[in-house]
Amino acid sequence: MISSVLDESILKRARDKGLLDVRVMNIRDFTLNKHHTADDYPYGGGAGMVLKVEPILRAVDFIREEEKELRIILLSPQGRRYNQTVAYELSREERRVVFLCGHYEGIDERVKTHLSPEEISIGDYVLTGGELAALVVIDSVVRLIPGVVGDRSSVEEESFNGILDYPHYTRPFEFRGMEVPSVLLSGDHEKIRLWRRRQALLNTLEKRPDLLSLAILSDEDRSILEKIKEEESL
Ligand code: SAM
Repeated sequence: MISSVLDESILKRARDKGLLDVRVMNIRDFTLNKHHTADDYPYGGGAGMVLKVEPILRAVDFIREEEKELRIILLSPQGRRYNQTVAYELSREERRVVFLCGHYEGIDERVKTHLSPEEISIGDYVLTGGELAALVVIDSVVRLIPGVVGDRSSVEEESFNGILDYPHYTRPFEFRGMEVPSVLLSGDHEKIRLWRRRQALLNTLEKRPDLLSLAILSDEDRSILEKIKEEESL
């Protein structure tokens, strides 16, 4: 599941360029029983299965044989909420990052007792397993590593660098009566820059006004916002 995503698009190119090194490990390979069972029934009864403590700790010991300094992250709906700020912070991490992916009802609590991992949640909903969550984190972090995305400005202008992104258009100029805003064809770079900034601020005001109180805004941004608000009250 993880390997198929890592073999696509930007993640694949980052790996080919040596900017990303991901090793996928199967907990079952660290079981000692004949059937390679990595889960068992919960003590105290109840629905579902629980991932066993021994194979997970053995897998981490195995990684530690190669590298002592690890940052261990457990993907969990109980964790700190993931966002772009955490993505930036992870993109600067020097240590090897280990993502522990739970499954079934989760993992034996003693994994947490022993490793004290940092817990990260990608949102307030419950996934079947931590694999998709780990991939979300990996994808969003990798695109912030210099050299991964060709044009740095495309990463810098994306949503959540303070405010939301502006709308994008490509050919054809007209489709089903919908035309591309004429300013984008004007060739006037300053006008285009201002239009895009205004659209980005408008998007944020309409969709995520909460972000505006945290964003770093320039004097120009503030005056654009004032104008937008004035126009809206007319
Ligand atoms: N019983 C657990 C609970 O309520 O906290 C949920 C277990 S969930 C079905 C199985 C695994 O999926 C979790 O151990 C975790 O690794 C992963 N997972 C589920 N939702 C997640 C989320 N929102 N963010 C990160 N990981 C999640």
